[in-house]
Amino acid sequence: VRIKSDKDKEVNVQVLLRCRPPNADEIKNRIPTVLKCNEATREVTLAQNIASKQIDRTFAFDKVFGTDASQEQIYDDAMFSVVQEALEGFNCTIFAYGQTGTGKTFTMGTEGGAVLAKDGNLAPNSGVIPRAVKHIFTALENADSEYSIKVTFLELYNEEITDLLACDARVHPGDKQAKLGLCEDGKGGVLVRGLEEEIVRNQTEILSVLERGTAQRRTAETQLNKQSSRSHSVLTITIHIKETTAEGEELIKVGKLNLVDLAGSENISRSGARDGRAREAGEINKSLLTLGRVISALVEQQSYVPYRDSKLTRLLRESLGGKTKTCIVATVSPCLNSLEETLSTLDYAHRAK
Ligand code: ADP
Ligand code: MG
Repeated sequence: VRIKSDKDKEVNVQVLLRCRPPNADEIKNRIPTVLKCNEATREVTLAQNIASKQIDRTFAFDKVFGTDASQEQIYDDAMFSVVQEALEGFNCTIFAYGQTGTGKTFTMGTEGGAVLAKDGNLAPNSGVIPRAVKHIFTALENADSEYSIKVTFLELYNEEITDLLACDARVHPGDKQAKLGLCEDGKGGVLVRGLEEEIVRNQTEILSVLERGTAQRRTAETQLNKQSSRSHSVLTITIHIKETTAEGEELIKVGKLNLVDLAGSENISRSGARDGRAREAGEINKSLLTLGRVISALVEQQSYVPYRDSKLTRLLRESLGGKTKTCIVATVSPCLNSLEETLSTLDYAHRAK
Protein backbone atom coordinates (compact mmCIF):
# COMPACT_ATOMS: atom_id res chain seq x y z
CA VAL A 1 0.00 0.00 0.00
CA ARG A 2 1.18 3.45 -0.79
CA ILE A 3 -0.66 6.15 1.02
CA LYS A 4 0.03 9.77 0.43
CA SER A 5 -1.36 12.04 3.08
CA ASP A 6 0.60 15.20 2.53
CA LYS A 7 3.81 16.15 0.81
CA ASP A 8 6.27 14.86 3.34
CA LYS A 9 4.27 12.13 4.98
CA GLU A 10 4.15 9.00 3.00
CA VAL A 11 3.53 5.63 4.55
CA ASN A 12 4.96 2.84 2.56
CA VAL A 13 4.38 -0.65 3.87
CA GLN A 14 4.60 -3.69 1.65
CA VAL A 15 3.40 -7.05 2.86
CA LEU A 16 4.57 -10.18 1.08
CA LEU A 17 3.66 -13.73 1.67
CA ARG A 18 6.04 -16.61 1.18
CA CYS A 19 5.07 -20.27 1.46
CA ARG A 20 7.90 -22.76 1.95
CA PRO A 21 7.79 -26.20 0.30
CA PRO A 22 6.76 -29.22 2.43
CA ASN A 23 9.81 -30.60 4.24
CA ALA A 24 11.06 -34.19 4.18
CA ASP A 25 9.06 -35.20 7.27
CA GLU A 26 5.86 -33.71 5.97
CA ILE A 27 6.34 -35.55 2.69
CA LYS A 28 7.19 -38.82 4.44
CA ASN A 29 4.13 -38.56 6.67
CA ARG A 30 1.95 -37.55 3.73
CA ILE A 31 0.63 -34.46 5.44
CA PRO A 32 -1.89 -32.86 3.10
CA THR A 33 -1.22 -29.34 1.86
CA VAL A 34 -3.96 -26.81 2.44
CA LEU A 35 -2.56 -23.63 0.95
CA LYS A 36 -2.68 -22.43 -2.64
CA CYS A 37 -0.60 -19.47 -3.74
CA ASN A 38 -1.57 -17.53 -6.81
CA GLU A 39 1.36 -15.30 -7.67
CA ALA A 40 -0.50 -13.64 -10.54
CA THR A 41 -3.53 -12.50 -8.53
CA ARG A 42 -1.34 -12.08 -5.40
CA GLU A 43 -3.75 -14.19 -3.41
CA VAL A 44 -3.41 -17.08 -1.02
CA THR A 45 -6.25 -19.50 -0.42
CA LEU A 46 -6.48 -21.77 2.56
CA ALA A 47 -9.00 -24.53 1.96
CA GLN A 48 -9.72 -27.58 4.05
CA ASN A 49 -12.58 -29.64 5.27
CA ILE A 50 -12.15 -30.33 8.98
CA ALA A 51 -14.74 -32.37 10.83
CA SER A 52 -17.19 -31.67 8.02
CA LYS A 53 -16.67 -27.95 8.46
CA GLN A 54 -15.36 -26.33 5.31
CA ILE A 55 -12.71 -23.67 5.82
CA ASP A 56 -12.14 -21.58 2.76
CA ARG A 57 -10.45 -18.25 3.07
CA THR A 58 -8.59 -16.08 0.62
CA PHE A 59 -6.16 -13.31 1.52
CA ALA A 60 -4.61 -10.75 -0.80
CA PHE A 61 -1.09 -9.35 -0.37
CA ASP A 62 1.18 -6.96 -2.20
CA LYS A 63 3.11 -9.95 -3.48
CA VAL A 64 2.80 -13.69 -3.08
CA PHE A 65 5.62 -16.20 -3.46
CA GLY A 66 4.73 -19.87 -3.73
CA THR A 67 6.81 -22.93 -2.90
CA ASP A 68 8.85 -22.64 -6.11
CA ALA A 69 9.97 -19.06 -5.61
CA SER A 70 13.75 -18.75 -5.44
CA GLN A 71 15.75 -16.56 -3.11
CA GLU A 72 16.90 -14.57 -6.12
CA GLN A 73 13.36 -13.99 -7.33
CA ILE A 74 12.27 -12.71 -3.93
CA TYR A 75 15.21 -10.36 -3.75
CA ASP A 76 14.80 -9.04 -7.25
CA ASP A 77 11.01 -8.70 -7.16
CA ALA A 78 10.57 -7.36 -3.66
CA MET A 79 13.74 -6.43 -1.79
CA PHE A 80 15.85 -4.74 -4.41
CA SER A 81 13.75 -1.58 -4.40
CA VAL A 82 13.82 -1.36 -0.60
CA VAL A 83 17.61 -1.57 -0.48
CA GLN A 84 17.80 0.93 -3.31
CA GLU A 85 15.86 3.43 -1.16
CA ALA A 86 18.36 2.94 1.67
CA LEU A 87 21.12 3.77 -0.82
CA GLU A 88 19.20 6.92 -1.69
CA GLY A 89 19.19 8.10 1.92
CA PHE A 90 16.00 6.70 3.42
CA ASN A 91 15.36 4.55 6.49
CA CYS A 92 14.11 1.14 5.47
CA THR A 93 13.19 -2.03 7.31
CA ILE A 94 12.65 -5.60 6.20
CA PHE A 95 10.93 -7.91 8.69
CA ALA A 96 10.49 -11.66 8.54
CA TYR A 97 7.37 -12.69 10.45
CA GLY A 98 5.95 -16.18 10.95
CA GLN A 99 5.72 -19.42 12.86
CA THR A 100 9.02 -21.12 13.77
CA GLY A 101 10.15 -23.45 11.01
CA THR A 102 8.48 -21.58 8.14
CA GLY A 103 11.62 -19.97 6.71
CA LYS A 104 12.19 -16.58 8.37
CA THR A 105 15.89 -17.19 8.90
CA PHE A 106 16.22 -18.92 5.53
CA THR A 107 14.61 -15.92 3.83
CA MET A 108 16.74 -13.36 5.68
CA GLY A 109 19.87 -15.42 5.09
CA THR A 110 21.52 -15.37 8.48
CA GLU A 111 21.98 -19.09 8.69
CA GLY A 112 25.68 -19.94 8.75
CA GLY A 113 26.80 -21.71 5.63
CA ALA A 114 23.98 -20.54 3.41
CA VAL A 115 25.36 -17.01 3.53
CA LEU A 116 27.79 -17.23 0.62
CA ALA A 117 29.22 -19.92 -1.61
CA LYS A 118 32.86 -20.98 -1.07
CA ASP A 119 34.13 -18.73 -3.83
CA GLY A 120 32.66 -15.71 -2.03
CA ASN A 121 29.85 -15.26 -4.54
CA LEU A 122 26.16 -15.55 -3.86
CA ALA A 123 24.85 -19.10 -3.65
CA PRO A 124 21.37 -19.99 -4.96
CA ASN A 125 20.18 -20.22 -1.34
CA SER A 126 21.77 -16.97 -0.17
CA GLY A 127 19.04 -14.94 1.46
CA VAL A 128 18.20 -11.26 1.69
CA ILE A 129 21.16 -10.17 3.84
CA PRO A 130 24.04 -11.36 1.65
CA ARG A 131 22.17 -10.15 -1.44
CA ALA A 132 21.59 -6.74 0.13
CA VAL A 133 25.25 -6.51 1.16
CA LYS A 134 26.37 -7.32 -2.36
CA HIS A 135 23.87 -4.85 -3.81
CA ILE A 136 25.03 -2.04 -1.49
CA PHE A 137 28.76 -2.50 -2.08
CA THR A 138 28.38 -2.96 -5.83
CA ALA A 139 26.36 0.24 -6.06
CA LEU A 140 28.80 2.24 -3.90
CA GLU A 141 31.96 0.93 -5.53
CA ASN A 142 30.61 1.81 -8.96
CA ALA A 143 29.71 5.34 -7.99
CA ASP A 144 32.53 7.76 -7.30
CA SER A 145 31.24 9.33 -4.14
CA GLU A 146 33.00 8.80 -0.85
CA TYR A 147 31.08 6.56 1.51
CA SER A 148 31.28 4.76 4.81
CA ILE A 149 29.27 1.91 6.22
CA LYS A 150 28.53 1.03 9.82
CA VAL A 151 26.78 -2.00 11.21
CA THR A 152 25.16 -2.88 14.49
CA PHE A 153 23.70 -6.25 15.34
CA LEU A 154 21.58 -6.87 18.41
CA GLU A 155 19.19 -9.32 19.89
CA LEU A 156 15.99 -8.59 21.77
CA TYR A 157 14.94 -11.31 24.15
CA ASN A 158 12.31 -10.79 26.82
CA GLU A 159 12.41 -7.04 26.13
CA GLU A 160 16.13 -7.07 26.96
CA ILE A 161 18.72 -5.96 24.45
CA THR A 162 22.06 -7.68 24.03
CA ASP A 163 24.79 -6.60 21.67
CA LEU A 164 25.82 -9.43 19.38
CA LEU A 165 29.01 -7.62 18.41
CA ALA A 166 30.23 -6.61 21.87
CA CYS A 167 32.26 -9.69 22.62
CA ASP A 168 33.33 -12.74 20.74
CA ALA A 169 32.03 -15.83 22.49
CA ARG A 170 34.42 -17.99 20.53
CA VAL A 171 37.38 -16.13 22.00
CA HIS A 172 36.01 -15.30 25.47
CA PRO A 173 33.49 -18.03 26.21
CA GLY A 174 32.82 -16.87 29.77
CA ASP A 175 32.05 -13.25 28.94
CA LYS A 176 28.84 -11.94 30.35
CA GLN A 177 26.65 -10.28 27.80
CA ALA A 178 25.78 -6.81 28.95
CA LYS A 179 22.15 -5.79 28.82
CA LEU A 180 21.82 -2.48 27.06
CA GLY A 181 19.29 0.26 27.66
CA LEU A 182 17.49 2.62 25.33
CA CYS A 183 17.66 6.37 25.62
CA GLU A 184 16.26 9.27 23.63
CA ASP A 185 18.84 10.98 21.45
CA GLY A 186 17.21 14.40 21.83
CA LYS A 187 16.45 14.57 18.11
CA GLY A 188 13.35 12.43 18.17
CA GLY A 189 15.31 9.22 17.75
CA VAL A 190 16.29 6.50 20.15
CA LEU A 191 19.77 5.20 20.91
CA VAL A 192 20.93 1.93 22.38
CA ARG A 193 23.38 3.02 25.04
CA GLY A 194 26.80 1.44 24.50
CA LEU A 195 25.95 -0.48 21.34
CA GLU A 196 29.03 -1.46 19.36
CA GLU A 197 29.22 0.03 15.87
CA GLU A 198 31.55 -1.67 13.42
CA ILE A 199 32.88 0.21 10.44
CA VAL A 200 33.09 -2.12 7.46
CA ARG A 201 34.92 -1.41 4.22
CA ASN A 202 33.78 -4.23 2.00
CA GLN A 203 31.52 -7.24 1.62
CA THR A 204 33.94 -9.65 3.24
CA GLU A 205 34.25 -7.48 6.35
CA ILE A 206 30.54 -7.06 6.83
CA LEU A 207 29.85 -10.74 6.33
CA SER A 208 32.52 -11.69 8.84
CA VAL A 209 31.01 -9.28 11.39
CA LEU A 210 27.68 -10.91 10.74
CA GLU A 211 29.09 -14.35 11.20
CA ARG A 212 30.61 -13.31 14.52
CA GLY A 213 27.25 -12.00 15.70
CA THR A 214 25.46 -15.15 14.64
CA ALA A 215 28.02 -17.32 16.46
CA GLN A 216 27.57 -15.11 19.52
CA ARG A 217 23.83 -15.64 19.35
CA ARG A 218 24.20 -19.40 19.18
CA THR A 219 26.67 -19.54 22.08
CA ALA A 220 24.46 -17.42 24.29
CA GLU A 221 21.56 -19.62 23.42
CA THR A 222 23.35 -22.69 24.72
CA GLN A 223 24.90 -21.00 27.75
CA LEU A 224 21.82 -19.19 28.90
CA ASN A 225 19.32 -21.78 27.81
CA LYS A 226 17.63 -19.35 25.49
CA GLN A 227 15.38 -20.44 22.71
CA SER A 228 16.23 -18.64 19.53
CA SER A 229 12.64 -18.85 18.37
CA ARG A 230 11.81 -16.41 21.15
CA SER A 231 14.22 -13.68 20.23
CA HIS A 232 14.24 -10.96 17.60
CA SER A 233 17.50 -10.15 15.84
CA VAL A 234 18.09 -6.74 14.34
CA LEU A 235 20.94 -6.04 11.93
CA THR A 236 21.27 -2.39 10.99
CA ILE A 237 23.41 -1.17 8.11
CA THR A 238 23.93 2.59 8.05
CA ILE A 239 25.22 4.10 4.82
CA HIS A 240 26.85 7.55 4.71
CA ILE A 241 27.46 8.97 1.25
CA LYS A 242 29.22 12.26 0.62
CA GLU A 243 27.78 14.20 -2.26
CA THR A 244 28.76 17.44 -3.86
CA THR A 245 26.00 19.64 -5.23
CA ALA A 246 26.27 21.59 -8.48
CA GLU A 247 27.15 24.62 -6.34
CA GLY A 248 30.09 22.75 -4.86
CA GLU A 249 28.44 22.27 -1.50
CA GLU A 250 29.15 19.02 0.34
CA LEU A 251 26.22 17.02 1.62
CA ILE A 252 26.11 13.79 3.59
CA LYS A 253 23.27 11.48 2.68
CA VAL A 254 22.44 8.92 5.37
CA GLY A 255 20.43 5.81 4.65
CA LYS A 256 19.63 3.02 7.03
CA LEU A 257 18.59 -0.56 6.41
CA ASN A 258 17.21 -2.67 9.27
CA LEU A 259 17.01 -6.40 8.67
CA VAL A 260 14.87 -8.04 11.32
CA ASP A 261 14.35 -11.74 11.96
CA LEU A 262 11.40 -11.72 14.37
CA ALA A 263 10.61 -14.19 17.15
CA GLY A 264 8.37 -17.08 16.14
CA SER A 265 4.79 -15.86 15.92
CA GLU A 266 3.47 -18.99 17.67
CA ASN A 267 4.65 -17.32 20.86
CA ILE A 268 1.82 -14.85 20.53
CA SER A 269 -0.92 -17.39 20.75
CA ARG A 270 0.46 -20.35 22.57
CA SER A 271 3.41 -20.22 24.87
CA GLY A 272 1.76 -18.23 27.64
CA ALA A 273 -1.12 -20.57 28.16
CA ARG A 274 0.74 -23.81 27.65
CA ASP A 275 3.98 -23.61 29.56
CA GLY A 276 2.93 -21.14 32.17
CA ARG A 277 5.98 -18.96 31.62
CA ALA A 278 3.72 -16.00 31.64
CA ARG A 279 6.28 -13.26 31.92
CA GLU A 280 8.38 -14.52 29.07
CA ALA A 281 5.38 -15.11 26.86
CA GLY A 282 4.02 -11.70 27.79
CA GLU A 283 7.29 -10.02 26.89
CA ILE A 284 7.48 -11.79 23.55
CA ASN A 285 3.91 -10.81 22.87
CA LYS A 286 4.71 -7.25 23.64
CA SER A 287 7.12 -6.59 20.78
CA LEU A 288 5.28 -8.67 18.18
CA LEU A 289 1.85 -7.38 19.12
CA THR A 290 3.01 -3.79 19.38
CA LEU A 291 4.71 -4.04 16.00
CA GLY A 292 1.39 -5.18 14.52
CA ARG A 293 -0.41 -2.26 16.16
CA VAL A 294 2.20 0.28 15.11
CA ILE A 295 2.02 -0.86 11.52
CA SER A 296 -1.77 -0.80 11.39
CA ALA A 297 -1.79 2.65 13.01
CA LEU A 298 0.62 3.88 10.34
CA VAL A 299 -1.27 2.27 7.48
CA GLU A 300 -4.59 3.63 8.74
CA GLN A 301 -2.98 7.01 9.43
CA GLN A 302 -4.16 7.14 13.01
CA SER A 303 -2.92 10.13 14.94
CA TYR A 304 -1.55 8.02 17.79
CA VAL A 305 1.07 5.40 17.01
CA PRO A 306 2.00 3.28 20.05
CA TYR A 307 5.76 3.15 19.44
CA ARG A 308 6.53 3.43 23.13
CA ASP A 309 4.74 0.22 24.04
CA SER A 310 7.64 -2.11 23.19
CA LYS A 311 11.42 -2.06 22.88
CA LEU A 312 11.35 -3.23 19.28
CA THR A 313 9.09 -0.41 18.13
CA ARG A 314 10.97 2.20 20.18
CA LEU A 315 14.20 0.98 18.65
CA LEU A 316 12.88 1.12 15.10
CA ARG A 317 10.81 4.24 15.55
CA GLU A 318 12.69 6.44 13.13
CA SER A 319 12.53 3.69 10.53
CA LEU A 320 8.78 3.13 10.81
CA GLY A 321 6.47 5.84 9.60
CA GLY A 322 7.28 9.17 8.04
CA LYS A 323 9.32 8.95 4.89
CA THR A 324 10.45 5.36 5.24
CA LYS A 325 9.93 2.08 3.51
CA THR A 326 8.86 -1.07 5.34
CA CYS A 327 8.59 -4.54 3.95
CA ILE A 328 7.15 -7.47 5.88
CA VAL A 329 7.69 -10.98 4.61
CA ALA A 330 5.20 -13.31 6.25
CA THR A 331 6.34 -16.91 6.03
CA VAL A 332 4.01 -19.90 6.24
CA SER A 333 3.96 -23.68 5.86
CA PRO A 334 1.62 -25.19 3.25
CA CYS A 335 0.66 -28.17 5.44
CA LEU A 336 -2.45 -29.14 7.32
CA ASN A 337 -0.66 -29.59 10.65
CA SER A 338 0.18 -25.87 10.71
CA LEU A 339 -3.25 -24.68 9.66
CA GLU A 340 -4.06 -22.80 12.84
CA GLU A 341 -0.73 -20.97 12.91
CA THR A 342 -0.93 -20.23 9.21
CA LEU A 343 -4.33 -18.63 9.65
CA SER A 344 -3.04 -16.48 12.48
CA THR A 345 -0.01 -15.39 10.38
CA LEU A 346 -2.26 -14.56 7.43
CA ASP A 347 -4.50 -12.53 9.71
CA TYR A 348 -1.62 -10.63 11.30
CA ALA A 349 0.06 -9.91 7.98
CA HIS A 350 -3.17 -8.95 6.33
CA ARG A 351 -3.93 -6.45 9.06
CA ALA A 352 -0.63 -4.74 8.31
CA LYS A 353 -1.70 -4.18 4.73
P1 ADP B 1 12.40 -20.10 10.97
O1 ADP B 1 13.57 -19.17 11.00
O2 ADP B 1 11.13 -19.43 10.54
O3 ADP B 1 12.22 -20.86 12.23
P2 ADP B 1 14.01 -21.57 9.12
O4 ADP B 1 14.44 -20.48 8.23
O5 ADP B 1 14.98 -22.04 10.12
O6 ADP B 1 12.65 -21.21 9.84
O7 ADP B 1 13.49 -22.75 8.19
C1 ADP B 1 13.20 -24.06 8.68
C2 ADP B 1 13.77 -25.10 7.71
O8 ADP B 1 13.10 -25.03 6.46
C3 ADP B 1 15.24 -24.88 7.41
O9 ADP B 1 15.86 -26.13 7.30
C4 ADP B 1 15.23 -24.16 6.07
O10 ADP B 1 16.41 -24.39 5.35
C5 ADP B 1 14.01 -24.76 5.39
N1 ADP B 1 13.35 -23.80 4.48
C6 ADP B 1 12.66 -22.72 4.86
N2 ADP B 1 12.15 -22.07 3.80
C7 ADP B 1 12.52 -22.75 2.72
C8 ADP B 1 12.32 -22.59 1.30
N3 ADP B 1 11.59 -21.57 0.81
N4 ADP B 1 12.88 -23.49 0.48
C9 ADP B 1 13.60 -24.52 0.97
N5 ADP B 1 13.82 -24.74 2.28
C10 ADP B 1 13.31 -23.87 3.15
MG1 MG C 1 14.84 -18.71 12.61
